Amino acid sequence: MRRSARITVHPEALQHNLNRAKQLAPNAKTLAVIKANAYGHGSADTAGILYQIADEFAVSCVPEAVVLRNAGIDKPITILQGFQNDGDLHIAEQLKLRLTVHDDNQLGLLDNYSSASTHRFDLNIKIDSGMHRLGFQPNRCKSLYQKLSKHAQVNPDTLILMTHFSSADELDNDATSKQIEVFNQACGNIKAEKSIANSAGVLGWESSHTDWIRPGIMLYGSSPFADKSREDLDLKAAMSFEAPVISVHSLKKGDSIGYAASWTCPKDMQVAVIACGYADGYPRHAANGTPVWLNGQETQLLGRVSMDMIVVDANNYPENSVRVGDIAELWGKHLSPDKVATAAETIAYEILCNAGNLRAS
Ligand SMILES: *Cc1c(COP(=O)(O)O)cnc(C)c1O
Repeated sequence: MRRSARITVHPEALQHNLNRAKQLAPNAKTLAVIKANAYGHGSADTAGILYQIADEFAVSCVPEAVVLRNAGIDKPITILQGFQNDGDLHIAEQLKLRLTVHDDNQLGLLDNYSSASTHRFDLNIKIDSGMHRLGFQPNRCKSLYQKLSKHAQVNPDTLILMTHFSSADELDNDATSKQIEVFNQACGNIKAEKSIANSAGVLGWESSHTDWIRPGIMLYGSSPFADKSREDLDLKAAMSFEAPVISVHSLKKGDSIGYAASWTCPKDMQVAVIACGYADGYPRHAANGTPVWLNGQETQLLGRVSMDMIVVDANNYPENSVRVGDIAELWGKHLSPDKVATAAETIAYEILCNAGNLRAS
């Protein structure tokens, strides 16, 4: 998209953050989660940047893996949602993708799958330990493992037992310990590798590290915890989202700014207009006072976010120091997307995906 706002991805930050995950779980192998176009960072580029450090990659669905294979990424790729139809199975066979099974519909597709070759799929068996989104009931784990380890289409030696947390970002919520217990009990003494931890698990729940970790958001330099900053966790910004100042002007006390005149100047003041709005992926619900980084200091959003513009306070700067053409950072190395997301009552996951994926389209 040809617009003024721009995304820059920082390769060394992505590598640093993945190394952080590996340090925290030194005995686990790493599945770098690069679904949703690597949370807006570009999945093929991100896979290239992390290629030497990640053991394997994970995406949500088969078409996302096709993009990576077309870009020449030849490492194992896990499909977290698995397959939806026969076509997915054929592509997974051709591209050698690791699939996930989480419901009976998929077992039916697998039973009926016919291929000219003797290909055997690498599979994750997903157990619902309490999130109640995807996964088989825990009491079916053993019988499913037995069935699938004898299945003609399945590689018995590479089965992985997997589950996903609902609340691991809340460190004082005992739902996570319960999920770990339910999952471990379901697995019993099955001799298969286990995979549990998302970023919050990697950072906050050591007993979830097991054989594989699946970090996503931490790779991009955001904290999954509301009360811990990326600096607290030694994570670095992987994305800078920037846009130029296109006007600087003075307003009088009592002047209101933007749609619905939702903010009124309490005194005479200078403001700057930045060419970035919700059409660029900046969150429309960012409130008055949302931080914006401009010319070496944090300033704040005034009034509503428009489609292509925001207005910020340019008052606390030396006279004439804010100029047309200066580049504001909406988030990045100086300002974490977590802070912006909080001010917009959302999470960094969403604003990174939105801004990054709009740039790419
Ligand atoms: C997205 C996802 C992850 C990564 O989660 P983060 O919170 O971004 O670390 C891990 N596992 C599954 C199954 C996922 O869907």
